[in-house]
Amino acid sequence: MVDAIRKTNLMETLMRNLKGGEIRLKSRPVGMPTEDNFEYAEGPVAEPKDGEVLVRNVWMSVDPYMRGRMVDRESYVPPFQIGQALQGHAVGQVIAAGKGAAFAEGDYIGHMLGWREYAVVGPAAMPMKVDPKIAPVQSFLGALGMPGMTAYAGLFRVGAFKDGETVFVSAASGAVGAVVCQLAKAHGAYVVGSAGSDEKCDWLVKEAGIDKAINYKKEKDLDAAVGAAFPKGIDVYFENVGGKHLEAALNHMKLRGRIAVCGMIEQYNATTLPAGPSNIILTIPKSLRIEGFVVSNHYDMLPQFYQEMSKLIAAGKMKWKESVVEGLHNAPKAFLGLFKGENFGKALVKIGPDKAV
Ligand code: NDP
Repeated sequence: MVDAIRKTNLMETLMRNLKGGEIRLKSRPVGMPTEDNFEYAEGPVAEPKDGEVLVRNVWMSVDPYMRGRMVDRESYVPPFQIGQALQGHAVGQVIAAGKGAAFAEGDYIGHMLGWREYAVVGPAAMPMKVDPKIAPVQSFLGALGMPGMTAYAGLFRVGAFKDGETVFVSAASGAVGAVVCQLAKAHGAYVVGSAGSDEKCDWLVKEAGIDKAINYKKEKDLDAAVGAAFPKGIDVYFENVGGKHLEAALNHMKLRGRIAVCGMIEQYNATTLPAGPSNIILTIPKSLRIEGFVVSNHYDMLPQFYQEMSKLIAAGKMKWKESVVEGLHNAPKAFLGLFKGENFGKALVKIGPDKAV
């Protein structure tokens, strides 16, 4: 009892003096963002109310989709606001729980209040318990989290991939792409990926086990390289990049091929609309289906996704890389790196120590 009172007093004192840092959007980027579009600020940390928990963030994710939220326009998620902390997936440890909260002190949870050291997490932040015994907690921001789920839904549902088909994946060594490649391989596919360096391409072939990798930065003729890699054509193109990748894929799709449009990172920072694809007419004779998707509409597949991933991880057939940037201050740098191919695998920011309590 005395111990409990002491602990409560200690927590109250700690809470009164607790300050936390956060990264705010300072201005809306035009074209490629710069570090000047972001600012670091510190302030007092609020106490968790009933049903909320106070989380000390350990890891946060930077993702290409965040670029879209920096633009003031209506979309499937609201835009970030100038002067306010950015948001995104994070994993942290609960350090204090309000009355009736669903999580206890010491629990690790994933939630949507990244870009800050401390987060007061309620149901709106979509908290989910993560189990460090299953995998390192940061995996729930990558292969076992939103990017992995994107790969799964995009390949199997949107791409309607069937065992043994041929699959082309762009940004193949990234958080989403690497999972797509290995899911398809595990189902007997012939898989070719494209990536932006020889090191990434080597990893894709030697570690992720795909059939061929194309370094698109070195290829003078991407279309010819894709054609040579797919002598019998492509059944499913998992689109992460857009532009010349999409044109090349269209040229080499098989009859009734499917294109799962996951992302088009090549144009996220464009200030004018890019041309093309000039060969979109090929959708007619080839009877192609091109379908865009947003992962949040496919979370009903989560149980199958976890089942498949745990089987593959246990069999050593699902590997991934992580690019870790240390310190919340460096989160903007990690984000900007996504558009220069600086990340090799899931881009993460380590915000604090693994154990917060
Ligand atoms: P990645 O881990 O793949 O990181 C982004 C990578 O994209 C970079 O490392 C770089 O790799 C490549 N890239 C950057 N700029 C260009 C460019 N101009 N041309 C070609 N490649 C480029 O990111 P994610 O795996 O998190 O995301 C992959 C894609 O999936 C993105 O387009 C993202 O927006 C999309 N996405 C969509 C979701 C949805 O619900 N629809 C959900 C999650 C992600 P390289 O060195 O190979 O060039």
